[in-house]
Amino acid sequence: MNHFTYKNGVLCCEDKPVQDIAKEVGTPFYLYSTATLQRHFDAFDSGFDGMKHQTCFAVKACSNLSILHLFAQMGGGADIVSGGELFRAMKAEIDPQKIIYSGAGKTRTEIREALEAGILMFNVESPQELDRIQEIAAELKLTARIAFRINPDVDPKTHAYISTGLAKNKFGIPVDEALEEYLRAKEMENIEIVGVSCHIGSQLTQIDPFIEALRKVKNFVAKLEQKGIHIQYLDLGGGVGITYDDEQPPHPVDYAAAIKEELAGMDCTLILEPGRVITGNAGVLITEIQYTKMNTGGEKEKRFVIVDAAMNDLSRPSLYSAYHEILPVQEPAEGTEQHEVDVVGPICETGDFMARDRMMPEVQPGELLAVMSCGAYGFSMSSNYNSRPKVAEVLVSGDQFRVIRQRESYEDLLRGEELTALP
Ligand SMILES: *Cc1c(COP(=O)(O)O)cnc(C)c1O
Repeated sequence: MNHFTYKNGVLCCEDKPVQDIAKEVGTPFYLYSTATLQRHFDAFDSGFDGMKHQTCFAVKACSNLSILHLFAQMGGGADIVSGGELFRAMKAEIDPQKIIYSGAGKTRTEIREALEAGILMFNVESPQELDRIQEIAAELKLTARIAFRINPDVDPKTHAYISTGLAKNKFGIPVDEALEEYLRAKEMENIEIVGVSCHIGSQLTQIDPFIEALRKVKNFVAKLEQKGIHIQYLDLGGGVGITYDDEQPPHPVDYAAAIKEELAGMDCTLILEPGRVITGNAGVLITEIQYTKMNTGGEKEKRFVIVDAAMNDLSRPSLYSAYHEILPVQEPAEGTEQHEVDVVGPICETGDFMARDRMMPEVQPGELLAVMSCGAYGFSMSSNYNSRPKVAEVLVSGDQFRVIRQRESYEDLLRGEELTALP
């Protein structure tokens, strides 16, 4: 359920016609609905009512300050994976006591910053990282709260690039080696063990892999208890999928129910790190058609719709062959002729496409298209490739909108560069 629908023949975000925003802001731009963001956060979080829990939004999915602040106001914490994300989370007024730091390659500087901020816990991914955290915490005369990220060797049945819980993936510590690491951590002066964590992948469309991983984690927690190590926080990561095309992911409420059932009787606070499921369908990318053309002479004639957004703005199609629905902003009249087209950007790579071999109603230059389901891993993965300024981000509430990130200027592109030559 989202708030992007046709009203009187024009696509609206909540009560605001998309074309009105485009007139003021220009294209391309990312467009988010406050009502959808709130609804998705609430639907996910309230599924765990009746259990001690904390929802920590995965900042990497959508890192705009205003959006992070919206979740902060709803009681949300943050799952961060870099010093930059810590900086954002703090600026967005997220309570540091609700910040979890994940990721396999935390630098010394990043660890120091997180310790000084007083975050809830580090999800530690290697023995060397544990040693590094102990060393820095000792220097700062602080105590670092930690969990280890367990790699449960479970197949999440998703795209290979976003599978993270298989033994062959770079993430976490194998269950068999983790006990030894907990025992080592227990003896460390500046380390306090508070949790166990796992995150097996993203865009999961089935509940079973989550439950399989959870059972392994539960068994492991029991082993820790036997050794006198008590766990306060059980962090189950993120990963619930969304519908881009015809996927049928579990409803967050069913996901929550299955987890609650599995955890019945366990005395700990559950931590959840959802990203995609909260923001994915709460944002779209609006782009203007520049040209249409037909290339003949190959096996079959090929139609192209060339738009002003490109793989640097939305990389998911090129990176993961991801599917995004594309809707004309002006609702096509019934009976409009349909063609099979490639929707492509202006970048000099054949991999620069939004959609391939897609049936779409006939469109003309100057018309607007909405690339749907871009609210997660959309803007946050964008780059300046081809010296393209990053696009604007806009947030709608009711019939009001606000630019929550200005479109970059050419000057922004050169920030930090010098016109210089070595002698
Ligand atoms: C990416 C990530 C998440 C969020 O994943 P989604 O599929 O967006 O819910 C949560 N936790 C960790 C450790 C991650 O790396």
